[in-house]
Amino acid sequence: RKHSTAAVLEEPINPGVSVNHTQLLINGKFVDAASGKTFPTLDPRTGEVIAHVAEGDAEDVNRAVSAARKAFDEGPWPKMTAYERSMVLFRFADLLEKHTDELAALETLDNGKPYEQAAKIELPMVARMFRYYAGWADKIHGLTVPADGPHQVQTLHEPIGVAGQIIPWNFPLLMFAWKIAPALACGNSVVLKTAEQTPLSALYAAKLLHEAGLPEGVLNVISGFGPTAGAALASHMDVDKLAFTGSTDTGKIVLELAARSNLKPVTLELGGKSPFIVCEDADVEQAVELAHFALFFNQGQCCCAGSRTYVHESVYDEFIEKAKARAMRRTVGDPFKKGIEQGPQIDNEQFEKILKCIRSGMESGATLETGGGQLGSKGYYIQPTVFSNVKDDMHIAQEEIFGPVQSILKFKDLEEVVQRANNTRYGLAAGVFTRSLDTANTLTRALRAGTVWVNCFDVFDAAIPFGGYKMSGIGREKGEYGLKNYLQVKAVVTPLKSLAR
Ligand code: ADP
Repeated sequence: RKHSTAAVLEEPINPGVSVNHTQLLINGKFVDAASGKTFPTLDPRTGEVIAHVAEGDAEDVNRAVSAARKAFDEGPWPKMTAYERSMVLFRFADLLEKHTDELAALETLDNGKPYEQAAKIELPMVARMFRYYAGWADKIHGLTVPADGPHQVQTLHEPIGVAGQIIPWNFPLLMFAWKIAPALACGNSVVLKTAEQTPLSALYAAKLLHEAGLPEGVLNVISGFGPTAGAALASHMDVDKLAFTGSTDTGKIVLELAARSNLKPVTLELGGKSPFIVCEDADVEQAVELAHFALFFNQGQCCCAGSRTYVHESVYDEFIEKAKARAMRRTVGDPFKKGIEQGPQIDNEQFEKILKCIRSGMESGATLETGGGQLGSKGYYIQPTVFSNVKDDMHIAQEEIFGPVQSILKFKDLEEVVQRANNTRYGLAAGVFTRSLDTANTLTRALRAGTVWVNCFDVFDAAIPFGGYKMSGIGREKGEYGLKNYLQVKAVVTPLKSLAR
């Protein structure tokens, strides 16, 4: 039952990166919190302190919002030409590439994700996201609308104003990009609250954005906690729009805060319990590899993780055997080491929660195929874990585990699996594995999810919209759809005198 990985968790590798920015970024300057308070951010490999970071609170949020307000109302940001704004974002993308090593090292140090993943997959996606929206900045325009009667009618697509954005810890820089790139491209100013577990990389990136020519006050970054800094932002009367990514429970809270304060529009990207469906005609080897990736990627800490692996009964036994072998081969260890697929979980709270879920799986009668416990004795490493014989009503099949725990369920026919896959309050994503076009078409239309990946998973091109059905969220981010979150539509109506009857 022991995970067979050879990766020994020795002394943590020194990443050789220095932490230079720990203050809040308000109005283009790094400043201490008004209260003078700081909080520690921890290394998930050891649980030890990396740095003490300024702890923003309501007063700091007030200062950041007034800086953002001023930058928006008085310029220069919305008064710069769209082309000038786009050039700032393009230059920033170049700087992100130039500083990939430091940014990826900070990301791994603060979050625990494999350095190679941060440097080779995520940083390029971050740069791509900024270039994608930089390209949109000077292509945003309204319409001329044919109306009844002698009127000239046009729509203007205007920035909303000050955007408040709250992001989670699982992809700190990628979430920074998903939020900030479209907001800035549309000409808004921003107050961003990072997750308390991972404040470091955003501060570094925000400094680079200023080097790229972003005027002061346009982007303000507040490190701090949810119920204090986050809630202050969500309920601020002078914030014009709120974008949130995090858990469904917290999403409900911020939506309520937004409604109770000034009815600011809210987009939410929340939790999931995404089905991954392996049909009877699937290539089992490929399906195993993809299902493994769909669940274990990023230590299982993905809102869209394929966390309910439904496998057709005809290939079920073979699938289980291979999925177990694949999990046992997964290399777990210091995320700074080459070839490591899995690092530690983010923090002790998540670590304990995942171990509790694993115990619940065992108690409810699922079969533990491999894994099941902590790996090593230091930090928050968990053995890649696979359960078979999982039933829909088990806790592990219903709750978001957010860890390296694969739950495999058996199904007989398509109608049944559609019904079971949709029988959840979530609807973020789904995976379908089949060689039949008919099966793929049937399933993609029947599944109630914001993304359906067919014979692939976790494809996150900047142009592809992402968001949830049901309690997985409100609205779509990325792609052209993502622009809507940051634009107001103004209808302008003028009489056409010469045509008046
Ligand atoms: P997780 O459980 O994965 O940490 P959360 O939804 O709690 O997810 O956190 C996502 C983001 O929401 C973080 O930046 C966190 O600080 C923030 N947050 C948590 N609670 C609140 C709250 N009451 N109001 C506003 N933001 C919050």
